Amino acid sequence: MTLSGKTAIITGSNSGIGLGVAEELARQGANVVLNSYTDSKDDHALADRIAQQYGVTARYIKADLSKGDEARKLVEDAAACDILVNNAGIQHVARVEDFPADKWDAIIAINMSSNFHTIAAAIPMMRKAGWGRIINVASAHGLRASPFKSAYVAAKHGVLGLTKTVALETAEEDITCNAICPGYVLTPLVEAQIPDQMKTHDMDRDQVIREVMLAKQPSKDFATTGQVGGIAAFLCSPAADQITGTSISVDGGWTAQ
Ligand code: NAD
Repeated sequence: MTLSGKTAIITGSNSGIGLGVAEELARQGANVVLNSYTDSKDDHALADRIAQQYGVTARYIKADLSKGDEARKLVEDAAACDILVNNAGIQHVARVEDFPADKWDAIIAINMSSNFHTIAAAIPMMRKAGWGRIINVASAHGLRASPFKSAYVAAKHGVLGLTKTVALETAEEDITCNAICPGYVLTPLVEAQIPDQMKTHDMDRDQVIREVMLAKQPSKDFATTGQVGGIAAFLCSPAADQITGTSISVDGGWTAQ
């Protein structure tokens, strides 16, 4: 129970990596604020389940992070923010000359600009509390490019630039700002694509994973949401007090190439 008494806001946390991070921080004793742009019974039930399972306070707050004012309001409505995990993200794949401008704007807004807005709202609270940990979930695509992902790659590279700048601006305080750069992570969304890929390529599950999905990931194994959660918890631990302005890759060797 190393994080008891701390409040963590995790954006985009009703599924996938965000949920994995929220569960790990709750397991370490943090009170958690879950978020997405929906406001369903299931969203609130998720927060209730986490509260019960880990004996912490858990709340779900709806905010559409494509809008800067909603991103800032999420932090204000949470009322406390010791740990901020910027995780919400979307993807669209197309050649740059065919890339729909509205998709470009949405990816830049959700994957990058929302980080600016939540961080700007959270830092005064962290200063007041005398402690803060900011973790931006970027991607291997913050360090490497792939074709057809111009907006995503631009946004994730931007997140790493923002991470470094915020780290320098808070360096003399007990506030750190770092990024996690996952390679391919086995989320429900990724899992759901496997059967279709098996049909398309006439391959078995293992072949699809090794040869299609993880072609760029030397370990030939997905990272898990729990592993990303573990790195987030590490970045909040005393061992990481002098780690700021950097990124930790969880990519099975992708960016070693
Ligand atoms: P996911 O689709 O399961 O989760 C994305 C989350 O963001 C969801 O909770 C979704 O509701 C939320 N979200 C989307 N648009 C939003 C909006 N407008 N406002 C608020 N919330 C919004 O996907 P994931 O794979 O868990 O991705 C989480 C993060 O990890 C993303 O930033 C993604 O780029 C990054 N990432 C994922 C992988 C991977 O292989 N899955 C690899 C590297 C990086």
